[in-house]
Amino acid sequence: MSAETIDIVLATGNRDKVRELKPVLEGIHPALRVHALFELGLEAEIEETEQTLEGNARLKARAIFELVAPRLDWFIALADDTGLEVDALGGAPGVYSARFAPMPPGQSPTYADNVRHLLAMMSGKTDRSARFRTVIAMKGRLPAAAGGLVPVDETAEGSVEGVITESATGDGGFGYDPVFIPAGTNKTFAQLGIGEKNAISHRGRAVEAAARRIRELLAQCGLSN
Ligand code: IMP
Repeated sequence: MSAETIDIVLATGNRDKVRELKPVLEGIHPALRVHALFELGLEAEIEETEQTLEGNARLKARAIFELVAPRLDWFIALADDTGLEVDALGGAPGVYSARFAPMPPGQSPTYADNVRHLLAMMSGKTDRSARFRTVIAMKGRLPAAAGGLVPVDETAEGSVEGVITESATGDGGFGYDPVFIPAGTNKTFAQLGIGEKNAISHRGRAVEAAARRIRELLAQCGLSN
């Protein structure tokens, strides 16, 4: 087939994530163009109703697929979901990482509320092991080399092991970064530079795994580079 455009549509509205993802994904093949949903003039309010990271990532990718399918020929809708899994808390907060700290009805916790709640729950615990896990779901359609289409419906994953600190340290990053020390370092994610964090992070690894899979799918379509 000719090198027509293949669009990757990101479910996220988070501009930092979009900036981080674009160069990696567009670097896979010259035919790929990466857009956030808002860059296509679309929006979607998708409620994360599943009990697993994989379930929520798939739910978001499916919703974006349905939304853009009437407008694009060849595309992959890509959605991610991330959670912090703490062993001493039976894997919590996990899929509920963004809404961990209890709040009055109608209010959402801030990152600081969640960090405070986590440190309180971890008070006196000797097992501090934890991991960040990101699942990326992809749903789309690619042009088959022999005509017709190759359906895309799969997930890629990345994780990073580490420990929860006794108190918050560092000003960088976001979320639980000030209380998570990744294995092999002695600094929290909030003390590492963004480049250092991305090189070892759950999300960085998940994006690499997704990029590998997209490269394989494109090769199946006769699009190698
Ligand atoms: P999301 O699925 O990427 O929206 O992440 C859900 C929640 O997990 C966020 O609200 C953060 O609290 C937390 N989180 C996700 N990624 C990170 C990270 O890289 N560092 C620290 N916390 C994170």
